[in-house]
Amino acid sequence: MEEDIKELEDYAHLNGIPIMEKDGIIYLTNFLKKNSIKSVLEVGTAIGYSAIQMALAVPDLKVVTIERDEERYLEAVKNIKKFHLEDRITLIFNDAFNVSLSDKFDLIFLDAAKAQNIRFFERFEKNLKPKGVFITDNMHFHGLVQEEDTSKMSRSVRGIVRKIREYITFLEENEDYKTEFISIGDGLAISWKK
Ligand code: SAH
Ligand code: MG
Repeated sequence: MEEDIKELEDYAHLNGIPIMEKDGIIYLTNFLKKNSIKSVLEVGTAIGYSAIQMALAVPDLKVVTIERDEERYLEAVKNIKKFHLEDRITLIFNDAFNVSLSDKFDLIFLDAAKAQNIRFFERFEKNLKPKGVFITDNMHFHGLVQEEDTSKMSRSVRGIVRKIREYITFLEENEDYKTEFISIGDGLAISWKK
C-alpha cells in the first residue's frame, strides 16, 4: 500500500501533475476524521491521488470526483482499481462547469483551475449539506499570492494571482461562511457554512 502510494507520487512528479503536498494531505485526512466527514465532492481529480488518500484514511467515506483531462482521468480510473476503491470513489469525466449534481456532501474540495474558484464555489454551493465545509487548495499558489511585487510575473501567472486574491476577498466577505486560511501545503482555505 505504502509503495503503491509512493508510485502515484513518483508518477505525478515525473509528469508534472500538481498533486497535493504531503503535509496538506495529512492535514486533510485528519480533518476528515476529526469532523466525521462521510462524503466528499472533489473538483480536480488529476490521477486520483487525493481521492485515494482520503478514502484510505476514512473506511466508510464516499468520494465523487470530477476531472476534465482525459489522460489524467484514465490514469485515475486505473489507480482507483488498483486500490480496490471503485465502490467508494465515483469518477466523473467532464468539465466541472458541465456537471450538475443533486447529491449533497459534507465537504467540497476545490482543487481544479485556480482562477475559477469563485465560479466553482457558486456552482456547487447547492451540493453542500447544512453546516458543511468547503476546502480550497493552492491558496498561496507557490507563495506568489503573498508576493507584493507582481511585475516580474508572466501575464498568465499574474492573472491567476489576481484571481486568487479576489477569491480570498470573496470568502472573507461571504457572510454565509466562516473562513480560516491556513499555511499548510500550498495554503488551504477552510470555509464552514454557518
Ligand atoms: N486533487 C488532485 C490534484 C488536482 S490537479 C490531487 O491532489 O491529487 C487539478 C486538476 O483539475 C487537473 O488535473 C485539471 O485537469 C483539473 N481541472 C481544472 N479545471 C477543471 C474543470 N473545470 N473541470 C474539471 N477538472 C478541471
Ligand atoms: Mg492542489
